[in-house]
Amino acid sequence: VIEKQVQRRIFKIIVIGDSNVGKTCLTFRFCSGKFPEKTEATIGVDFREKTLTVDSELIKLQLWDTAGQERFRKSMVQHYYRNVHAVVFVYDVTKMSTFDSLPQWIDECDRHNLNIHIPRILVGNKCDMLDKIVISTNLAQKFADAHNMPLFETSAKDDGRANHVDAIFMTLAHKLKNS
Ligand code: GDP
Ligand code: MG
Repeated sequence: VIEKQVQRRIFKIIVIGDSNVGKTCLTFRFCSGKFPEKTEATIGVDFREKTLTVDSELIKLQLWDTAGQERFRKSMVQHYYRNVHAVVFVYDVTKMSTFDSLPQWIDECDRHNLNIHIPRILVGNKCDMLDKIVISTNLAQKFADAHNMPLFETSAKDDGRANHVDAIFMTLAHKLKNS
């Protein structure tokens, strides 16, 4: 048996945003292909991994779910922001306050001296709740442009849009591979 020599690079991606925007569901959806039946607020540091093939190279994405961070900021925060390769900012398209918090999350990254050149993306989640959407694509796109981030509107819950969840992380994996 001839074994192919596989090189596997690991990239740490932090998923941040207010409580309840769907960070855990998004990472779960991506890493296990489904919407979790129930989620619990994670205590402490938690991450999920998925290996992807990008241009025939194996890449491991390590998604750090910041669930615990909202409540355990001080003790966990340093650990979170160490050796980060990319950031996913998440807001809930049905809740304006989660969009209004984004500048604070960006500040938080700056405060922890994240390299300004690492990929950052903006994700508006819960787009399946069509009649409850309060943050328009237009508004979100302006914010994304102003902060030099691509915008993805998606749903961790709805199957149709969940394919989009894969696309988000695939895009990120491509960027990371070529960085
Ligand atoms: P987190 O605190 O940011 O990690 O948020 P969770 O992933 O725990 O999700 C918070 C709540 O929003 C849960 O009740 C989820 O079932 C729900 N949720 C998460 N993503 C979606 C989504 O895309 N659509 C809908 N309708 N609900 C979602
Ligand atoms: Mg969570």
